[in-house]
Amino acid sequence: MLQEKIAAGTDGLGRRDAGAPTGPVALDRRHRPTADICSQTLREFAAVNRTSVQAARAAYCHTMRTAAGLALPSIVRREQQDAVLKFCLEVPGTAGRSPFETESVIIPMNSYRGSSWHTLCISSQVGCRMGCTFCETARMGLLRNLSAAEIVSQFLVARELMAERGLAPSKPYRYFLSGIQNIVFMGMGEPLDNFEEVTQAIRVLTEPNGIAFPHAQITLSTVGRIDGLRKLAALNWPNLRLAISLNAPNDALRNQLMPLNKGMPLAELHRALMAYPLARRGLFLIEYVLIKDVNDSPEHARETAAWCRDLRCVVNLIPYNPQRDATYETPDEAVTFRFLTELRRNGIFVKRRLTHGRDLMGACGQLGNPGLRKSSP
Ligand code: SF4
Repeated sequence: MLQEKIAAGTDGLGRRDAGAPTGPVALDRRHRPTADICSQTLREFAAVNRTSVQAARAAYCHTMRTAAGLALPSIVRREQQDAVLKFCLEVPGTAGRSPFETESVIIPMNSYRGSSWHTLCISSQVGCRMGCTFCETARMGLLRNLSAAEIVSQFLVARELMAERGLAPSKPYRYFLSGIQNIVFMGMGEPLDNFEEVTQAIRVLTEPNGIAFPHAQITLSTVGRIDGLRKLAALNWPNLRLAISLNAPNDALRNQLMPLNKGMPLAELHRALMAYPLARRGLFLIEYVLIKDVNDSPEHARETAAWCRDLRCVVNLIPYNPQRDATYETPDEAVTFRFLTELRRNGIFVKRRLTHGRDLMGACGQLGNPGLRKSSP
């Protein structure tokens, strides 16, 4: 209420609030911390600046659409393989440690119909505490949550990198003219383990008077934190896409691969998804990392199909991407095909994800700087 009152520049009874300036906001961007505006929607930005939404709109819109005057985090590492670009941004460390880094990947995509676009994969945490045994990030442990501003900054930097590659945003501004048409929360971290900052970042990314990225082009990927799924359901964002990292069709195997499953077993996850308010034509993306001789048999495929049967979903098969010094292996092409065929035979809509960026440790499950692991000096 208070925010609404300030934002409207009135005292709540339609009278002009004496303390609230009414003119357009003329902000000295050199002195405006990036963290502030990158974590604010227009309404919040107006409230902080004690003005009306109308007066703040032009300054907010200009800043978020051009990043003019923002001191974005510096790129500390940048690696490219073909057209896949991985970049790392410096963020403050915790408890006197040297700075940490985020990891993001810009991935070119092509449809079967010949259209092409870029997907941006972003991180929600530095490291992760979920402990999935097939994932490089898990080995870091959780170093810290990223703030909403640090999450949004990954998009703003990616947009600049796209412009540098000759894909400059055109005018009038449209989010997709930067070449990035999808944002996926599939980088380092479990987004629902950092619920408040991730959802605030989504509010900022989708703010119509700012970046204006549609909910329908954002995918949040989770290991299936049921508490987080319920909180997300309460926000009623039916168009936000949701990916569930399944990876095993029974509790015994999933407990081994994904320790979270011990407290949040598959039957409960299934119930939470059935209750989730999907858009009328929405589908869950069920991600399945296929690991040689672990979860890749026809029987596993049939169990997966049974678990998925009454969910509105598409299964995304991801052949395991090797980690540094890991014991798991990638299945043969024939085994991947057999698994896919078995799912289809059981009536499941399934796609196979093409692997990008494997050699630069930028593919799914490969993100994470070993030098930053919790146990490292
Ligand atoms: S797969 Fe995702 S949730 Fe699991 S450890 Fe890796 S980053 Fe965390």
